[in-house]
Order: sequence, then C-alpha cells, then structure tokens
Amino acid sequence: MLLVVCIIIGCGPKHGDQKKIPIAPAQSGDFLSQTNNDFAFLEEMQRVAYYNKAAFPSFGEDWQKILSEDFLNRIADVGKKTKEQREQARNELREQIRKLPERRLPTRLENPATYFLVSAVNNHIFDATKAIGYQLPTIIIGTLPTRSANARSVPSPSGGRIIVLNTGLFNAVNRFVKALAPVIKIMNSGNMIELGVSLQLSRHLARPQSDVFIRFLDVGLEYLQLSSGEDYMLPGEYLQFHYQMVTAVESFVLAHEYAHAILSHNTEKGDSKALGSSLANDRWMEPEQALHAWIQELEADRLGTKIMLSSVSLNKSVAPEIMAAAPDIALQLIDYLDNARLMYESGEAMAVKPAMDSPEMSLYTVAQNCIQRKKSVNCLLPEQLQSVHRFSDHPPGSLRRDSIRAFCKEEGLFYEEKNRIDIGSAFAELIQLMWPNTVRVYAEVRRRKPPVK
Ligand SMILES: [Zn+2]
Repeated sequence: MLLVVCIIIGCGPKHGDQKKIPIAPAQSGDFLSQTNNDFAFLEEMQRVAYYNKAAFPSFGEDWQKILSEDFLNRIADVGKKTKEQREQARNELREQIRKLPERRLPTRLENPATYFLVSAVNNHIFDATKAIGYQLPTIIIGTLPTRSANARSVPSPSGGRIIVLNTGLFNAVNRFVKALAPVIKIMNSGNMIELGVSLQLSRHLARPQSDVFIRFLDVGLEYLQLSSGEDYMLPGEYLQFHYQMVTAVESFVLAHEYAHAILSHNTEKGDSKALGSSLANDRWMEPEQALHAWIQELEADRLGTKIMLSSVSLNKSVAPEIMAAAPDIALQLIDYLDNARLMYESGEAMAVKPAMDSPEMSLYTVAQNCIQRKKSVNCLLPEQLQSVHRFSDHPPGSLRRDSIRAFCKEEGLFYEEKNRIDIGSAFAELIQLMWPNTVRVYAEVRRRKPPVK
C-alpha cells in the first residue's frame, strides 16, 4: 500500500540538509554493501553524489525515522477530511513503514521508497530479457540522489553492470504523468483500450491560465530548482492510468539500460568517486565521439523497446496500450526538461524538434542509417559536421522517438497498431501548443535570474 501511495503522490523527500550524510556503520551485514563489492561500489558512488550534487536528502540508516517524520504528514493527510480519518491513515502508514525493514536494502544510502518501486519494475524487465533469450551479465540497480532525470549503466567490480537511476527521474515522471492524466481519455473497445486526446481539449489545456499548463511548467521549474514543486493528489478516476503510465515509463528507462548491458556498449569507466560525481551531469562530446554514442543510444532504444514490449505478457498490471506509449512519453519528458534547462541557462529557445538542416539532424541521419545498415552507408562522420563544436551525448528525444517508431514498423511490433489512438503524438501536440507560452515564461524567469556571484 505504501508503495502505491508513493507512486500516487510521490515519495521523494524534499530539499534537505546536504550535510546530513550518514557515515556510521549499521550492524555488519544489514546491508548488501557491507558484504558485497558491487554494492559497496554503488554505495560509494551514492555517497559522492550526495556530497557533490545533493538535491534530495539521503536516507541512510535513519531511513525508517525519516520516512516516518518526513512523509507521514505529507502522505497520510492527503484527501482525508476528518481528524479520525487522518489518524487512521497515519496509523496504517506507520504500520507499513514498520514492516519495510523486512525487505533488505542494498546500501546504507539507498532511497527505500524509490528502490522498492524500481525493484518491482526491474524484476519484470529481467524476466522479459531472459524470456526473449538474451544472456545477461550480473546487473544490480540503485538510485542516485540527484535532480538529473536520467539513468546510466557502468561496469561493476565483478565484471557485471550497475544501473543507476537519478532520483530526479522518478520525481519528474511522477509529476509529468500526473499533469498528463486528466488530459487522456480512456475508452474500451473490445479487448483493447483506446487512449485519446481531443485537439479541441488540448487547445483549451494549452492556455497559460489552465491548470495543466501550470503543472507542466512547474515540473520544469522544479527540475531547475526554481519551484518547490508542491505535490498534489489526483482524483481517484485517474489513479489507475497514472500508476500504469509511471510503471511503463520506468520500464522503458530500465529496458534501455539493460539493452546497453546486453550489447556490451562502452560505458563510462572509473572509480566510484569519479563515477559518483560524473553520472549526474550531462556530457558534451566532440562530433566523432558523439556519433559513436548516438549509434549506441539508438541501438539501446530499439532493443530496449523490444524488451519492454515483451515484458507486457509478464507484467499484467500495465495495459499493453499504455506500455506501448511509454517510449514516446519518456523521451518527450526528457526533451522537455533538457529544453527547459537550456532556455533558463542560455536563453536559447529550442524548437520542439531540431530543424532539417541542423547539425543534430545530420548526425542523427548518419547514426540512424548506420544502425539500419542501409546499403552504401558508412558510419563515418560527414565532413561538414567535423567543425561542429559539440553535441550532447544523447540524440534529441524527438529523433529517438522517430527511430523507435521506424524500428517498430520494421519489426511489426505492437507500437504502430492501427486501431490505437496514438497517445504519444497527442502528447507531442499538447507540448507543441504549450510551447510558445512556455518559452515566454522561461524568458521572464531568466530575466529575473539573480546575477551569478
Ligand atoms: Zn543510453
């Protein structure tokens, strides 16, 4: 129950004291990090991330106490009108928290709420990977306490992989899907469900005074730490959609990281200290290096989508139609946050999609043709891109979406099935409609930005 509550209202602790980093050991062996090298490595990365990029307070050995103190009021009172109702909800929650230690946490710095959520998704993705016949290295997962909204995989000391997910990702997914839930119409048609958004409704919702517009905006502002991101409770009728879409988006993110591991892609190497501080940051690359990285990202998106869609038959809690929409939603969300940051930091308003003649589009075209192994295609960097000063380490989300769609079409995967209204396109349309006003707000926020000291 606690985990469902967390997914509904969000269970990341809010901004806290960065100095409170637990260092005292618990009972030896209480945490896997005390007896296992891979988990110890993960714990060290988490510790460095707390020091360098702390945005969410750590939990550490006090996690039960923190959950009780920090979450009890926030969670238990939501939607409860009378004192008796609140008291009963608090007692139930205390009981849930008391039972949590029966499940083992991997490290002393793991966030219990997000860890238990992502573990459930991880089990399904692991099983789906096995079911379609891939051999996997040993993979362990953990969360980093930073606001970044991404995940990475790095080599572990034992030769396997550690997948780390930044806490900001869970927060942003939760808040975005919450903003999106009231926009989506869910209709039953035979065995299928149809997910739709009317254009008329989108136009209405995209107005700057609409709640939906304000909520989308707030997710971006919270990501940039310009808003405290007050959480709110969704009306009951949207909870099922919210739960399923959050799970589906997390499934895509994890499946993408699994794909990197299966394909033995290069990942960042280094000791736990260097990794702990670098994994939360974006990386910019020289063109040559970026082409290599983009090819790997597009490959991981393709295989990740296949794994994620295979997990549908194992994870009955998410409707296939919702799972199929998840890559689109996940990538648009990441794009939205990236663009928000760019607008705030540089004042540059990105187009929702890179222009046909942009360097990004050219690099993407080479990478995409290369992974599709079209005849007469080489995977070399075109001359005109050699002078471009830098690229992001990931292709823009809008182009990754195109690539996934092309792949699903090639493979005849569910994603392109005709009788499903394409929720991803509808979401894209909504963002597009909101974009001019979003840009205006960011220009204003930037104008008021305090000067850098
Ligand atoms: Zn990747």
